[in-house]
Amino acid sequence: MSTSPASSALILFSGGQDSTTCLAWALSRFERVETIGFRYGQRHAIEMDVRLPLRQKLVELFPHWGARLGPDVVIPLDVLGAISASALTADLPFGNRDDGLPSTFVPGRNLVFLMFAAIVAHQRGIKHIVTGVCETDYSGYPDCRDDTIKALQAAINLGMESRLVVETPLMWIDKSQTWQMAEDIGGQALVNLITENTHTCYAGDRANRHDWGFGCGACDACHLRADGWHAYRRSLTAR
Ligand code: ZN
Repeated sequence: MSTSPASSALILFSGGQDSTTCLAWALSRFERVETIGFRYGQRHAIEMDVRLPLRQKLVELFPHWGARLGPDVVIPLDVLGAISASALTADLPFGNRDDGLPSTFVPGRNLVFLMFAAIVAHQRGIKHIVTGVCETDYSGYPDCRDDTIKALQAAINLGMESRLVVETPLMWIDKSQTWQMAEDIGGQALVNLITENTHTCYAGDRANRHDWGFGCGACDACHLRADGWHAYRRSLTAR
């Protein structure tokens, strides 16, 4: 491929609302876009199952993105689930742990993901790594904070003698503004695609369809998504 590294991006793509918005954001900006996912012993495989159909639907809806979208890679990181006790990877209740962090917190997860993404990006001559982490609605995950990401970017570039850039387009916006960003990039069609085809719910529920998409409606991820959707819809009527 003759595309320059500067116009290429690797997206941490989980199949959720945030990473799908990041994928569309990248496709609207970079000439070459690849995706990476991680299998780490999630209790619910559904978020992995929606990834490839989502990529396909995106390029069907926006054919000019088809030439930009390169391969997907899934990295097996089952060891992460094996060594950490989290409600995402084991049969533990949702809620808060004794130290105040959510029980869905997998210590170091985003650090490990970004490290592996950097290795892949480095080998494939890709300059930008895009992740949907967000400090505004970060569910209490300390590895989603801007300082964490900046420190990791510095460590990666020092350790790999590289100039990779970790892009975090959602860092300072809330879930309502994430829906708005999707609308700005791809109009109502992209909002509809994200609503219908992305998966966010921690409980893996795809039986219950709400106006904001599928989910149990009770877990933290569903609450964040639903609250953001309703705030977004209110902002539309207020225009
Ligand atoms: Zn849920």
